[in-house]
Amino acid sequence: MPELPEVETVCGGLRQTILDDPIADICQRRADLRIPFPATLQDDLNGQTITHIRRRSKYILADLTNGKTLVIHLGMSGRILITEAGQSYTPQKHDHFIVDFRSGRKLVYTDPRRFGMIFTEDTDALDDHKAFRHLGPEPLSNHFDTDYFHQQLRKRKTPVKTALLDQELVVGIGNIYACEALYFAGIHPARPCNSLSRDETDALYRAIRHVLRIAIEAGGSTLKDYKHADGQMGYFQFQFAVYDQEGKPCKNCDCGQTSKEDRVQKIVQSGRSTYFCATKQV
Ligand SMILES: [Zn+2]
Repeated sequence: MPELPEVETVCGGLRQTILDDPIADICQRRADLRIPFPATLQDDLNGQTITHIRRRSKYILADLTNGKTLVIHLGMSGRILITEAGQSYTPQKHDHFIVDFRSGRKLVYTDPRRFGMIFTEDTDALDDHKAFRHLGPEPLSNHFDTDYFHQQLRKRKTPVKTALLDQELVVGIGNIYACEALYFAGIHPARPCNSLSRDETDALYRAIRHVLRIAIEAGGSTLKDYKHADGQMGYFQFQFAVYDQEGKPCKNCDCGQTSKEDRVQKIVQSGRSTYFCATKQV
């Protein structure tokens, strides 16, 4: 599933390719993804130019010259491919939405599981849209600071890992980077939020921003090569410290020398898998 760093990487790729290139036509190859395509999609997009590409949580926002914004969410398995101008392209089975640009480039949205979303909204009204109005601050923005984070954790009794996935507290951390941040902060994922000391809160805050920035950098470094990967953007190899490493020793403590039970463990919290090192995370 694309997480915030992948979505940020896709936004970076789109900025390099489709800005200021008028939309000649669009093609909807089915009626819906997770929600139906809006009936006005063709009218909202045809002839318009994308002036800005932004990200809010895991939504890609493409602002148009007519005061509307094209919103794309990649869901579980969505991918965006940008073809080169003049390159012929035969749509594949799971290509559900294609934008033709005047330059001859195409944006192809592919999504085998169809949990993604594509819709348009007035740019000015976006913050009030039901997808956005309850969202907390961006984790890499100045709106997410240690005072805010400490206040939010202090009033919650839920496990801290679960709280990191609460989009009203902070958006877009996601399951993978919640596990990684707790690991680097040395905090057990089942700890109640209000049991964290101020120092632990600060360490977790730094770890969240660190793991997201490192992942975005990793995505950015693969982005240079996006053309060599058939135009596929936003997916990159990343070595996780604990995520999906059950039974393996982690690299930053001596759990590798102890019994297998002390190595990276997996538990399920609120229906999501949590990976952690019981030696390092207390
Ligand atoms: Zn360890």
